[in-house]
Amino acid sequence: MRPDPVTPNPIPRDRAKRIAARVETWFAKNARDLPWRTSPRDPWMSLLSEILAQQTQISRVAERIPALFSTFPSPTHLAHAPEQSILALWSGLGYYSRARNLHKSAQMIRDSFDGNVPSAVDDLLKLPGVGRYTAGAIASMVFNQRAPIVDGNVRRVIMRIEGADLDPANKATDQYAWAQSQRLVNACTSPALFNEGLMELGALICTPRAPKCAQCPLSRSCRARRANLQDQIPAPKKPAARKAIHHAAVIVTDAAGKILAEQRPARGLWANLWQAPTLESAERAPTPRQITAELGVRKLKPAGHFLFKTTHRDVHFHIYSAHPAEPSPGTPRGEFLSPEAIAAKPLATPHRRILLEIAPATARP
Ligand code: SF4
Repeated sequence: MRPDPVTPNPIPRDRAKRIAARVETWFAKNARDLPWRTSPRDPWMSLLSEILAQQTQISRVAERIPALFSTFPSPTHLAHAPEQSILALWSGLGYYSRARNLHKSAQMIRDSFDGNVPSAVDDLLKLPGVGRYTAGAIASMVFNQRAPIVDGNVRRVIMRIEGADLDPANKATDQYAWAQSQRLVNACTSPALFNEGLMELGALICTPRAPKCAQCPLSRSCRARRANLQDQIPAPKKPAARKAIHHAAVIVTDAAGKILAEQRPARGLWANLWQAPTLESAERAPTPRQITAELGVRKLKPAGHFLFKTTHRDVHFHIYSAHPAEPSPGTPRGEFLSPEAIAAKPLATPHRRILLEIAPATARP
């Protein structure tokens, strides 16, 4: 039977010091070699990597950061660039609002902070898209300040070492984790080493499932391990309700092999990115009659179907090929572009697949 939940108490200073020292020693020996882990740290590259890592796996961030950093080597370079150029480099990474916020942050850094990434948590929090975690990460890991950090990895490690069997969906659990994180960072020798080490430990050792306790530098101090609750703390979150939506995408090519593409609206899912002309419906797949009427095409022919999952949505793509309904009643939306020109546009993963993989195979000039 599962024991009673442990009442969370503040970590005593001596215990916090021991934990912090073990994490720092472990991280100094086990840190992964990642492009932004330079010595000294580049504040701008660190900010780029933190924003990217918010919803993207670290291995993917490591692949993409060199191109982003060499194109925009400073906040000022990005601040002066058109939004479409950063969206194009962001293609396939998802959560495109991060790219838009980064662009606005770069402009704020240029205009309000002399082009330098600020070091104070309060200033970092003014940047669009920078929340408490990212501000703490930059302040501690780049500027070595005693700023706490809590993300999913850190919260899990803290709950386990303290045996804190709390509801992860409860706001009080977050407050608890932030308070403990502050106590730990106050007790460490190097906030830069400790905070990044704690995150690395959560990513590599104290993983959500099957934590590698035998390899963990905190195994002797870990209360969850002692109570054999490491697989149960934290309790799994209830999955969020998913919403199904339907996108009917139409492939239209001209005699020169150019493909019709349009820019998505400035708000909502995949805002301002490019796609094949698409009719969306929340209820069910749009009918051919609706598609031909709305998109100004004719001779619609099914060309496939696939499902694309975002965090909260199941997007059912219904692909068609068609001819433009010229000269009347309407002109199809968008413009004819070569595959090379399309590849240079900002594209979400499903639209890249439709325009650059499915379209060449279904061309009907
Ligand atoms: S001993 Fe196990 S559960 Fe505890 S912190 Fe280490 S990996 Fe996590």
